[in-house]
Amino acid sequence: MAQTLLALEPAALAEWVTSHGGQAFHAKIIRKEVLERGVLDYGEMTSLPADLRATLKADLPILSSTEATRTVARDKAIKVLLSFPARGGSVEMVHIPPPDKDDTRGATLCISTQVGCPVGCPFCASGLGGLERNLSADEILEQFVIGRSVGPIRRAVVMGMGEPLLNMEALNTALDAVHDEMGLGSRKITVSTVGFPDRLHKAARQKPRFELAISLHTADDTQRDALVPAMKGTSIESILAAGDDWFEQTGREITYEIALLGGENDTPWHAERLAERLNGRRCMVNLIPWNPSPGMSFSRPEAGTPEAFRDDLIARGLVATVRWSRGLDGDAACGQLRQRVKQS
Ligand code: SAH
Ligand code: SF4
Repeated sequence: MAQTLLALEPAALAEWVTSHGGQAFHAKIIRKEVLERGVLDYGEMTSLPADLRATLKADLPILSSTEATRTVARDKAIKVLLSFPARGGSVEMVHIPPPDKDDTRGATLCISTQVGCPVGCPFCASGLGGLERNLSADEILEQFVIGRSVGPIRRAVVMGMGEPLLNMEALNTALDAVHDEMGLGSRKITVSTVGFPDRLHKAARQKPRFELAISLHTADDTQRDALVPAMKGTSIESILAAGDDWFEQTGREITYEIALLGGENDTPWHAERLAERLNGRRCMVNLIPWNPSPGMSFSRPEAGTPEAFRDDLIARGLVATVRWSRGLDGDAACGQLRQRVKQS
């Protein structure tokens, strides 16, 4: 398998560069150009000697992925399907510019952590074929770099394909570089997970460099078992307890996410049960009206239902928002990557 730049740790890159006629400080310049500025062509790194640029171009590709497709929605959200020819598989990433075109603070990126997903939520396209493999740290970082090459980034959400808690080591390694070298602070990155309690307890003690969102979907244990099959038998109480522990350890409020499925979990009864469960907790609730995927038997909530659900929660003392999808006109199927993206 061909070696790529992003798969080399900074020290290994310095070694590569010095053994190819360059100097150690050139390695620092290269990382800076790629990570901080999103430069994906060695030819543009004019502060490097020309012969080193030529060697790099010939022997050390920056990325391991190729772009399989790129679609641009009417609201300018760019969805890229990346495939990894050497290691196999493909994942989606989305670059979502601010709704106001005069807003220069940068875009929101949505990235993936696994090829496929082993959790198998019946309403989600990512889990349909099960898990193909985990992405490596450099494949995760690569998505940030590609996003940065499109333009400045102000936030990132780990809400694409895959379950982040099942690939935490690679994600943490990638986020270290994102934090230290790309300059995206931990408050600017949100990781969404189905919330395996043991893994959450552990991650809360590893000085996480991100905000946490837990996909709860319902306050009813039987229904949750059906909606999140890989967690069958894990009580909602134990997930909330892990969330409380996270808040105590990190001091950061959690967002609970509910994919609103028409007639399934969007009734006043469900709103009431959810409010009872979350009562007294400092948290936020994001309601995401389900985005239809071909061949799935769920439906979108009826008009007005998400807002009524939100108002029920608010009346019971919670902080709740409806997150409508953006960029859906281009290709609705990728909506799940984008819909809970906060543009605030
Ligand atoms: N595996 C993680 C993160 C990726 S999915 C998780 O489940 O949290 C990100 C979010 O998209 C989850 O809250 C998930 O429930 C939601 N989602 C998946 N498919 C969806 C769809 N078709 N419509 C609305 N939300 C969807
Ligand atoms: Fe996996 Fe999340 Fe999709 Fe469930 S919703 S199948 S955990 S990606």
